[in-house]
Parts: sequence; C-alpha cells; structure tokens
Amino acid sequence: TAQAETLEFQSEARQLLQLVIHSIYSNKDTFLRELVSNASDALDKLRLEAFRDKDLPADTSDLHVALEVDSARRTLTVRDNGIGMTRDEVVGLIGTIAKSGTAEFLRKLKESKDAAGSQDLIGRFGIGFYSSFMVADKVTLVTRRAGESEGVRWESSGESTYTIEPVADAPQGTAVTLHLKPADEEEHLHDYTSRAKLTEIVKRYSDFITWPVRLAGEDGGEPETINSRKALWARPASEVGEDEYAEFYKHISHDWNDPLETIRLQAEGTFEYQALLFIPSRAPLDLFMRERKRGVQLYVKRVFVMDDCAELMPEYLRFVKGVVDAQDLSLNVSREILQRDRQIQLMRRRLVKKVLSTVKSMMTAKPDSYRTFWQEFGRAVKEGLLDDYENRDAILEIASFDSTHDPEKQTTLAQYVERMKEGQEHIYYMTGESRALIENSPHLEAFRDKGFEVLVLTDAVDEMWIDAVPGFGGKQFQSIAKGEVDLRTEDEKKEAEERQADFSDLLSWMTTTLADHVKEVRLSSRLTTSPACIVGDTHEVSPTLEKMYRAMGQ
Ligand code: ADP
Ligand code: MG
Repeated sequence: TAQAETLEFQSEARQLLQLVIHSIYSNKDTFLRELVSNASDALDKLRLEAFRDKDLPADTSDLHVALEVDSARRTLTVRDNGIGMTRDEVVGLIGTIAKSGTAEFLRKLKESKDAAGSQDLIGRFGIGFYSSFMVADKVTLVTRRAGESEGVRWESSGESTYTIEPVADAPQGTAVTLHLKPADEEEHLHDYTSRAKLTEIVKRYSDFITWPVRLAGEDGGEPETINSRKALWARPASEVGEDEYAEFYKHISHDWNDPLETIRLQAEGTFEYQALLFIPSRAPLDLFMRERKRGVQLYVKRVFVMDDCAELMPEYLRFVKGVVDAQDLSLNVSREILQRDRQIQLMRRRLVKKVLSTVKSMMTAKPDSYRTFWQEFGRAVKEGLLDDYENRDAILEIASFDSTHDPEKQTTLAQYVERMKEGQEHIYYMTGESRALIENSPHLEAFRDKGFEVLVLTDAVDEMWIDAVPGFGGKQFQSIAKGEVDLRTEDEKKEAEERQADFSDLLSWMTTTLADHVKEVRLSSRLTTSPACIVGDTHEVSPTLEKMYRAMGQ
C-alpha cells in the first residue's frame, strides 16, 4: 500500500494561504459559505454525471450537505456525498490555484497598505477552499470520487506543505474537517462549534441552496435541515404564493412591510438568468443619503455572491430589492469583471426596462399602488431623466406632477397633453420651492386667466432635469417664468405692438434708470392683477436653482 506523501503547495497557492492565515479579513463567517457552496457544486456535478452516465456506480438517492460539530475536539466537518475527487484532482485543485487573475490579485493585495483595501480585495477575489484557514489551524479533507473504490486523505496546516495518503474506507463524496482556532472576541472569530451560529450563517448565505444542509443532532439526535431551500425565482410563477414572496422580500430587505410589487423575469438562451425583484411599499430612510446601498443581490446558481450589486441596477432605481441569479458566472466574480461584462450590461438594461414597464402597468391596473410608488420613489426616479438617456421617455411616461388643473391630484404628462387647449403648443411649468409660492407668483396669473394648465414643480431635482429634457410627446416644456411666453391672439399682438410703440419712451427711460437691476423693461402680457413682475431669461438659472447652487457652495 502507498505511503503518506508530503507535497509542496504551488508558490501562488502558498502566498495566498499566507495572506489568508494572516489576514485581518473581518468577515470570517464566509468560510462556511465557500465550503457549502463547494459541496453544493459537488452535488450538482454528481447529479449531472449520473444523469449522463447511467452506469456510474454512485448513490444519488439522498444528496445533501451535512454539518457535524465536535465541541470537545473543536472540529467542524462539512460533508457532502457528491462527486468527490481523485488523488490527482486533490493535488491539482487544492494544491494549486488555477484561477485567472490570481497573480494580479496577489500583487494588488501586497500593494494595498490599508486593512480596508485588502479586505475588500479578499472579499472580491473569493478565496474558496482556502478560506477555511481563516478559522482553522489545521484542515483535513477526506474524499472519494464517485465510481472509484479508494479514497484520499489530505491534510495541511496551511504552511508550505500538505500531506496526502490513500484511505481504504472513505465514503463517496468529500468531508472537510476544520480544526478550529480558539474563539477570540478581539479577532472577531466566532465560535463555529455553536449550532446557533452555524444555523445563522447558513440561513444568511446559503438559505436558497437547492440541496438540504443538515446540522447533525446533538448526542446522536435527528439531524435538522437548516436551509429553507426555496429558490423562489426558479420555481414556476404560478406555484409561488404572494405570502411566500412577501416572506422572501422581508428576509432579503429587512423590511417589516409587504412589498408593493413583485417582479419576475426569466431569461433563457446563451446567458441564462432569473430575477426576482421587489418594489418596497416605503422609501428607506437613506434613499437620499450618500452611503445608501442598492438592493439587488447577485446569486450564481443559487449561491449568494454579492449584496448591493450596483452593476445590476442604476442609481435612480436604487430602492429596488431582490435577487438576480445568473447561471454562467463564476462564484468569484468581481465587481470589476461585472462592470466590463457585456452580458451583465444587457441584463441590466433588461432589468431596468422591466421595472419601468411594471410601474407603467401599475398605473392602470393598480392606480393606488402606482400613487404610493410615485409618492415614495418619484423623486429618485426623476434622477433617471438626467442619467438614463435611453429610458428618458419611459421615465416621463411613468412620472406624475402637481399641476394647476387639480390641486388635490397629480397629473401624468399624457393627461396634461390630452387637456391642452386648442392651439397650445407647449407644456407649461413653473419651478419653485413650494406650491404656495408658485400659486402666488404673478407669473401664473395670465396663464390661469386664460385657462392654461401649468405644472407645479417643487422638487429640487425638477430644476435639473427640466433643463435637460426638451419635451414629451412632441410638445416642448416651457417655463412660464422664463423668456417671452406668448399667450396672445393675432389681434392682441397687433394691439400690443401699438402699445409698445406708445410706451417706448417710458420703457427706455425705465430701462436706463433700472440698468443696475434689470436688463430690460417690457410691457407684459402675463399680468392681470399684479402691476409688474420680474422675468428670467430663457437660459438663465432659475432663482431656486441659484439658491441650490449657492447652498452647494458653487
Ligand atoms: P472554486 O470553488 O471557485 O473552484 P475552491 O477553492 O472553492 O474554488 O475549490 C477549488 C476546487 O476544488 C473546486 O473547483 C472543486 O473542483 C474542488 N472542490 C472543492 N471542494 C470540493 C468538494 N466538496 N467536492 C468536490 N470537489 C471539490
Ligand atoms: Mg468554491
């Protein structure tokens, strides 16, 4: 029989191990995610291989992951009855790192001087199996490849070498036993022999793994399945109840309320993914704060990969929560890769369109929900009019605004356009700090007098987008406080010209006298009861925007 051999880790693997062992990476809990995800992969592989090779002598009757704790010896074992590894596979897969970008990762990690920077790098690279050494000072792996008669035992304390030897009686699959470092408050090392702790971690990271994750019972009691295994997004929509969605939404969002709307998307073909998204019924408190998070999580084949995935949802839809599960990404996918990936960009475009079209159908199908939506998130959505050129029209279509038509109700632009008077060419609006200020403004008088509807725009963001967006449905936006707004008939125009001539001496005298304060004094067609008003140039910064710029220190 063969003897135990001592082999050296490949040099990159050795460097990575040293970094892992000495890292101050605070989120050490993730080691369990890595091991459970490896086990889940191994089960997936066996399922597939047994499916393809009907003669494979392997037992697939009860595929699962088992967690076993030995408090006395301070060990934690993660066991699966999946595909397993041959000796050569163990040497090749565990003794070396074949991952692309490893060298680059190591270089960056060495360069990064600050703790936060290197933590971030480790978190993004994903150190897989080696993350065991964050919490263990010795790791034993026993494995037997499905179809092989003999197994392998691999052991290392993460230094430069490992030992490997054959074992006669290994069960099919892989068991990874961690000899845990002592629990240490200061190093944020939790007690991984605690069943509550293990349950918490599995629920957090691996709840939706399709295979059961069982925690062996104490003193030989019945094992307990601790993941819910509900990958809701992968189940047919008709099978999933509202309450299940709500429960899942609360789980991922930490919101106590039910979601306002649930959105499902299924993409098949070369780049397969499923999305389960939610619009909350309430805006989060940090919606307009700098450190706010986005709500979409990325899963790869049921395994949680990252939170707050900015690449999947634009800033202006940051309130959308949910899960996107992609079939063809690596579990170790980094944000940099996501940013460059063309498939991800296509996916994001599709998700954005889906969210916008869902809101659009809410407008007719669930008007109350739509109103809640716009009240809670409208201000954020309007930011998209500045950033998302492609969806500008779609955003305008789902927008609502206060208007002089009905002080109690907001109007959509389509409704405004439908009410436009015969011969009215523009969509009139006025921006200001409050509705009361706008209503009392002399600019509004002539418009009200002539029965023209005016949009009342009071959000700070309105000042920004209204200058950038030319119009809606072929009608241009026109501020009633800027430039020359002509509400007159032909006769009135002629009459005004005559009057202008009559008053020309007075007007030029006033223009000269007031030269320090105004550019020009004109007769106005806007006013009915006020004697005079001050009008901005068409391209001038409005008073509110001026105030905003000043407040921003510009
Ligand atoms: P990754 O999972 O990203 O490939 P890991 O470091 O987690 O990186 O694992 C390296 C490789 O070791 C895996 O790709 C897999 O081939 C093998 N492996 C790890 N754990 C298991 C397991 N439980 N069963 C079978 N193979 C495994
Ligand atoms: Mg892995």
